[in-house]
Amino acid sequence: MARDARNRDTQMDNATARADQPAGNDKASMRGTAASTAPVVLSVEDVWIEYKTPFGWIQAVRGATMEIRQGEAVALIGESGSGKSTLGFGILRMLPRNARITQGRIMYTYADGRQVDLLKISDKEFRAFRWSECAMTFQAAQSSLNPVMRVKDTFHETAKAHGWKDDKAIREKSLDLFRKVQLDPDRVYNAYPHELSGGMRQRVSIALCLLLDPQLIILDEPTTALDIITQRAIIDVIRTLRDELDFTMIFVSHDLSLAAELADRVSTMYAGQIVEYGHVRDVFYDPKHPYSVGLLNAVPPIQGEEFTPLTAIPGSTPNLAAIPDGCPFHPRCPYATDVCTKVNPPLIDVGGRHLAACHHHDKVSLDQTVWERMDVAETTA
Ligand code: ATP
Ligand code: SF4
Ligand code: MG
Repeated sequence: MARDARNRDTQMDNATARADQPAGNDKASMRGTAASTAPVVLSVEDVWIEYKTPFGWIQAVRGATMEIRQGEAVALIGESGSGKSTLGFGILRMLPRNARITQGRIMYTYADGRQVDLLKISDKEFRAFRWSECAMTFQAAQSSLNPVMRVKDTFHETAKAHGWKDDKAIREKSLDLFRKVQLDPDRVYNAYPHELSGGMRQRVSIALCLLLDPQLIILDEPTTALDIITQRAIIDVIRTLRDELDFTMIFVSHDLSLAAELADRVSTMYAGQIVEYGHVRDVFYDPKHPYSVGLLNAVPPIQGEEFTPLTAIPGSTPNLAAIPDGCPFHPRCPYATDVCTKVNPPLIDVGGRHLAACHHHDKVSLDQTVWERMDVAETTA
C-alpha cells in the first residue's frame, strides 16, 4: 500500500474509531456508534446574531444550523472571526450587551425528554440551565477564572448558586474533579488563579465545567495559547473525561488535527454561516465545501524532512459589514461560477447526515496527501 494511503487509513481509524468501530469493551467506540441514533440534545436552527458597532449592526452569525446528538463531540472549525465563539455565547445566552439574536431557535432536550427553546425560556429558568445542563470554558481560560477568588471559592459559589448546600460534598466533588483532570487536588483547591500555569488554569476551567454534571459542554479553544506538550496533556484529559463521564461536547478549534482526534462530527463556519457539517470522516476525507478543502490544505506539516509548501486560502475573511452577495466565499473560491456571485446556496444534505452549502458540491474534492501532513496517528502515539 502506498505510504500516503496507508497513513491515511491509519489516521482515519484513529480519528474515527469512536464513531464507527465498536471494539470489545471500548466505551468510546460504543458511544460513537450509539450517537448516530441517539436523541438530539441540541438543535441550532437558523440562528442569526448581530453586534452593534460604530459601522452599524454587523451579522456575526448568519443562519447557523446544526444538531448534536447525545454523546457526540462536535468540532466547530473556521478562521478567526468566522463567528464560532459568538455562536457558543449565543447558545449560553452570554453575549455582550451590544449583541442581539434576531432570529432562530435553539432547542434543547433535557435527559427526561422535555424540550425547550433556549431563546424563549425565562431568565430564572436559564440560570438553572446554565452550568447544570450546559457549561462552557472560555477562549481566554487564563482570564476566565476570577483573579481575586481562590479556586475553591469559585467552585463553592457556583455549586451553591445551583442549590448545593453541603460544603463537604462540594469540596469532595471539586477534589475528585481535580484528580480527574490530573491536578494536585489540595494545592489547586486552595490556590489563586495567578498561582497556576496556563495549562493548570485550563484544567481547572474544564473541572468547573463538569462540577454540576452537565449534559452538554462547550470548550472554546481549549488548547490555544498553550505549549505543544500541555496541549497534548489537555487533549488526553478531555478524551479520558469523555470516556468516563459520557457528556456531549462542542469544541471550538483552529486546530484540525485536534478536531480529527477528538470529534465525531465537524462543523465548518465561514462568515457566520455553517457551510459544512458531517461526520469527521466525511468532512475531512471527502469534503463537499471548497472552504473545508482550503482549511485542510492549509494544515502545516508536523514532521518529515522535506519542505512541503502550504496552500493558503487566497484572499482574506470578508468584512462582516460588507459581505459579498451570493455565496460569501465566492471571491476566494476556485470553483466559483456566475451563480455563486448571485445566490447564497442553502445548507443541504449531500448524503448521510453530511450537509454542505455549495452550488458545486459534487465537483469538490480533496488532494488526499493532505493526510500525510496532518499525521494524526503519529501525534497520538
Ligand atoms: P476566533 O477564532 O478569533 O476566536 P471566532 O470565530 O470565535 O474567532 P467571534 O469572536 O465569534 O469569531 O467573532 C465573530 C465576528 O464578530 C468578528 O468579526 C468579531 O470582530 C465580531 N465581534 C466579536 N465580538 C464582538 C463585540 N463584542 N462587538 C462587536 N463585534 C464583535
Ligand atoms: Fe465556491 Fe460557489 Fe460553492 Fe460558494 S457556492 S463555495 S463560491 S463553488
Ligand atoms: Mg473565538
